[in-house]
Amino acid sequence: MSPVIPIRAEATGCSDVRPLVERGQREVFCGLTGIMWLHRKIQDAFFLVVGSRTCAHLLQSAAGVMIFAEPRFGTAIIDERDLAGLADAQDELDRVVNELLAQRPGIRMLFLVGSCPSEVIKLDLSRAAQRLQQRHAPQVRVLNYSGSGIETTFTQGEDACLAALVPELPDPSGQQSPTLLVAGSLADVVEDQLGALLQAMGIEVAFFPPRRSTALPAVGPHTRVLLAQPFLADTARALERRGAQVLPAPFPLGVEGTTAWLQAAATAFGVDAALFEQVTRAPRERGSRAMAAHKPWLEGRSVFFFPDSQLELPLARCLQRELGMTLTEVGTPYLHRQHMAAELALLPAGTRISEGQDVDRQLERCLQDAPDLTVCGLGLANPLEAQGLSTKWAIELVFTPIQGYEQAGDLAGLFSRPLRRRELLTAGQAVQRAA
Ligand code: SF4
Repeated sequence: MSPVIPIRAEATGCSDVRPLVERGQREVFCGLTGIMWLHRKIQDAFFLVVGSRTCAHLLQSAAGVMIFAEPRFGTAIIDERDLAGLADAQDELDRVVNELLAQRPGIRMLFLVGSCPSEVIKLDLSRAAQRLQQRHAPQVRVLNYSGSGIETTFTQGEDACLAALVPELPDPSGQQSPTLLVAGSLADVVEDQLGALLQAMGIEVAFFPPRRSTALPAVGPHTRVLLAQPFLADTARALERRGAQVLPAPFPLGVEGTTAWLQAAATAFGVDAALFEQVTRAPRERGSRAMAAHKPWLEGRSVFFFPDSQLELPLARCLQRELGMTLTEVGTPYLHRQHMAAELALLPAGTRISEGQDVDRQLERCLQDAPDLTVCGLGLANPLEAQGLSTKWAIELVFTPIQGYEQAGDLAGLFSRPLRRRELLTAGQAVQRAA
């Protein structure tokens, strides 16, 4: 039987770390990217990007390989206009929305998503959302947020979307006992698994965002929040303003992270230790076995993270503690000390953590470290591969279900695969040379 990995209360690791703060050139996608997974999550919502042809291209190319059904997103292209043309732009937006809602009567929630072009920045999207809401209520709720690359990196689009949704959550009526809300979008399969484990412990749980906009969970002073994703600073703040309490916990990545995450809920809801053990033992063991199969490829190897998704710290913790990798540098776009407190405590003291990005300087450090594996954005992967480094695209870690016990093996596999591939290539080249 694999025991629950004890997390020592006195563990401090990197709690007092002073990150290397960099504010130079960045190499990341913008917050529009979040639409790729959010539109699949909230199944009666539509995301209308108010943007340029560049935004439309980004959505099409990012979605091109992933869309099998009618997409629930689109772009209203606002071409170059001077200030005098702004009234026309509002009319144009109204026209696009009217047409869209007439063609797609199943839409119950419409997000107007702002972008970078100056013509869009000049448009007041919150007023547009209010105006359209008045026109289309109660069939459709119209909200707005920004996915602009000036304001958001790619996972922050989800944060902005969910923060815009929080004011719409109903108040709990007469609720006295605590309830659990898991915040952050998870693949449905992961949500079902984690929900079943919590329910087996007697904890009723709601997920945010919900699968349907008509089933918004209530939030209030009795709500306890577990964050399922580490990039939800604004959402957490908005939930706290409604009186909810965020439970401190690591993120549910790997067996250890999942156990500690579930334990945070179990402690808050007074779940008996024996029941916790009984509910988690079998999936914990399955997860440990699945991860162990990848350990021979990963143990003792080094990994370098460029800042992309804000998942870097929890992933680094999982790779170091459960798979025996060494951490050369862990970059994160933003370091939220409060949400990352449990993760920082579990990282080995002295880990080089960087916040923000100065891509040239970070590339220099990466090449100097010559890690066995580099986790980076798409734009950096090819140049680094050309330099002989093995890379993993950060975006894959966001699109693939990796949370929870049943996905722990897949998570380890995402990191072991590039190393196996390089080893096979090297072996093949050696055979060719010998022949
Ligand atoms: Fe580019 Fe900005 Fe549009 Fe994102 S929002 S695709 S960064 S123009």
